[in-house]
Amino acid sequence: MRLRTARLDELELDLVEPFETSFGVERRRRFLLVRLETTDGLVGLGECVASEEPLYSSETVATAREMLASRFLPELFRARSLDPAAFRGAVERYRGHRMAKSAIETALIDLAAQARGVSVATYLGGRRRRVEVGVSVGIQPSVPRLVRRVGDYLEEGYRRIKLKVRPGWDERPVRAVRAAYPDIEIWVDANQAYSPGATDRIRRWAARYGVAQVEQPFAERAIRAHAELARGAPFRICLDESIVDATSLEDALAAGAVTSLNVKTGRVGGPLVGRALAERARRARVPAWIGGMLESGIGRAHNVHLASLAPFTLPADLSASDRYYREDLVDPPFVLGPGSTLEVPRGPGLGVELSERRRRRALRASRTFRR
Ligand SMILES: [Mg+2]
Repeated sequence: MRLRTARLDELELDLVEPFETSFGVERRRRFLLVRLETTDGLVGLGECVASEEPLYSSETVATAREMLASRFLPELFRARSLDPAAFRGAVERYRGHRMAKSAIETALIDLAAQARGVSVATYLGGRRRRVEVGVSVGIQPSVPRLVRRVGDYLEEGYRRIKLKVRPGWDERPVRAVRAAYPDIEIWVDANQAYSPGATDRIRRWAARYGVAQVEQPFAERAIRAHAELARGAPFRICLDESIVDATSLEDALAAGAVTSLNVKTGRVGGPLVGRALAERARRARVPAWIGGMLESGIGRAHNVHLASLAPFTLPADLSASDRYYREDLVDPPFVLGPGSTLEVPRGPGLGVELSERRRRRALRASRTFRR
């Protein structure tokens, strides 16, 4: 099986509502979709989670487009095999650009699963048929609005609520949500917005309002600050942006800076690394879970398959399609099921279909590469 064509689509979807985090507001999502077609007619799809702006990470749609077109796709056309691990090895010498690499690796995994006639989940070793999910709630215009929003999500059936926080939007909103819903599981995520000087304050309000998990309060490389907050804390410290590979996870584990691991395949360079990191964390008794990047149904499907693996024991940031987009790109869309879960598609491959009509409507640019 060799590569016949590769297509790089640039798509844009409007979010159902603006999503605000400590680093900015997103109203729509512009992203790349990789479509690989093999000489024997199989089609594999992968989504690149890089945003237009380098705010969550240094990668952007433009840098990913450039690296895919000039390095990674040519590498794939030269390759003798379309094995996902072989591709990973071939592009390892290129530093960074993990989101771009992951877009191809996910498409290759879709192909490899189809070639075996199994789902992506089965190919990766996943056994669960449904995965537990929660919802990530952006910063709202006011505290009452946030409390109402959380209430809506609880009514829809989400159990675990993650609140985006930042200095000035932390203790007050968390207190209000806790007062309104005394029994729910609350996580917070600051996306690196605090300086280490905020450690004692964060510890106080997080403990007081029964926050179960504090995610990435400090800068990406501030391992010592995270370790300091973790010491004796009655909540988990989750690292997201800090963990980009095996070495960063080893260092964080050794420092005691991580007691929950967020895995985003784009951030770590692909599902194969993501799986290895989660397995490594499990050996250290650190639970892992799948984070979200406002993916369309293609990226979401890949994430749901990965979340079916044993080490991912905490609820994922993978909400139903309608949490993000009025019309998702895929059929069937993801819907929230009993016990705050999403069903793992049965396959073969991704187990969802890309809607050609909706792809056309979202399409802003497209380029096809041939052998
Ligand atoms: Mg995060």
